[in-house]
Amino acid sequence: MKFAERMKNIKPSATMAMNTKTMELKAQGVQVTSLAVGEPDAAAPLHIREAAKKAIDENFSKYTPVNSILELRQAVCHYFKRLHNVDAAPENVILTNGGKQSLVDTMLVLLNDGDDVLLPCPYWTSYPDMIRLAGGNPVLVPSTAARAFHIDVSDLEKAVTPGTRMLIFNSPSNPTGAAYSQEEMDAVLEWCLAHDIFVISDEMYSLLVYDSAPVSAAGWWAKHPESVAVLNGLSKSFAMPGWRVGYTLAHADLIKQCSKLQVQVTSHICSIAQKAAVAALDGPYDCVEEMRLSFLRRRDMAVAEISTWPGVICPKPAGAFYLFPDVSALFTPKMPDSVAVCTHLLEKARVACVPGEAFGDPHCIRLSYAVSDDVLMDALKRMKSALFA
Ligand code: GLU
Repeated sequence: MKFAERMKNIKPSATMAMNTKTMELKAQGVQVTSLAVGEPDAAAPLHIREAAKKAIDENFSKYTPVNSILELRQAVCHYFKRLHNVDAAPENVILTNGGKQSLVDTMLVLLNDGDDVLLPCPYWTSYPDMIRLAGGNPVLVPSTAARAFHIDVSDLEKAVTPGTRMLIFNSPSNPTGAAYSQEEMDAVLEWCLAHDIFVISDEMYSLLVYDSAPVSAAGWWAKHPESVAVLNGLSKSFAMPGWRVGYTLAHADLIKQCSKLQVQVTSHICSIAQKAAVAALDGPYDCVEEMRLSFLRRRDMAVAEISTWPGVICPKPAGAFYLFPDVSALFTPKMPDSVAVCTHLLEKARVACVPGEAFGDPHCIRLSYAVSDDVLMDALKRMKSALFA
């Protein structure tokens, strides 16, 4: 068959590919532990599930407005008011089929062919493909483990080009867990605005920070709505990955464009998920705090364990639920890169991880610690035996 040229610009998602591989192995009866995909182990909290059941029982199953029901957009506005003291109106909000649709739609609406997009590296594996799909050109902004994978204005100065139109900013970061302070984020945003660079702030993990309060670009959006979009979703913080609920906070004109695009592609998100999302965003938030504390405990357990692995460097992440250890000291002619390390771990330890290549850093591998304490520690012990025994 002949496929469109644009398909040459994108590759399969490494995280989802590893997840599919793990599920296939499990279906064949092979005992595999997946630390590959970023998916909370907890069930969606009970009051959220009850709201979904009620919506089903009340037959809330007709079409809704494309942006979502007003009640949900208001719940998003209340969230920003409560968390970040930012006033937003429902016309500044669109609900999307997960954070991915927020990202792609915002890029499709703003980028022209050949526009350069600054992308701090390591980056979440889907960003470069999304940028290329929208006609843009990813321009990497390297960061190092020695600086806790943070970038600053001097890094942006080195990477910027005359054709730069956008920055994708992701704090806390998937895969590194780097979380910026408000001051660090402010410096980045200030520089972007001074250079007429639009900022997409992907805040999918904003509630999952361990050493500080949640940080957001929402305050910058309130002051410069034409230059900033804030993206978030319920997959991680509310343990609802399969429900596909993401959202974009942006200028009303940008939301109108996203809506025009979305109605032709997917329409609104699932009506039942909308009612569940209202329950999630309205609270209570003690379920979020419980999950955050369990991730914090697992982070500390996992970092302590990996720090006993000779040669492996594992910076302690400040947010999200991933570890991104540098395993390059273990490379040999037989196991020359992080893909080979992950293959070895899958075959010998029956543990699935994602090679750092997929995130722009071939020295590292990514592990999710969003699994139970026992599963995590057992997997790490098996990995250690496979790598060092
Ligand atoms: N964002 C999660 C991850 O990085 C889920 C999988 C995906 O959408 O890539 O593992």
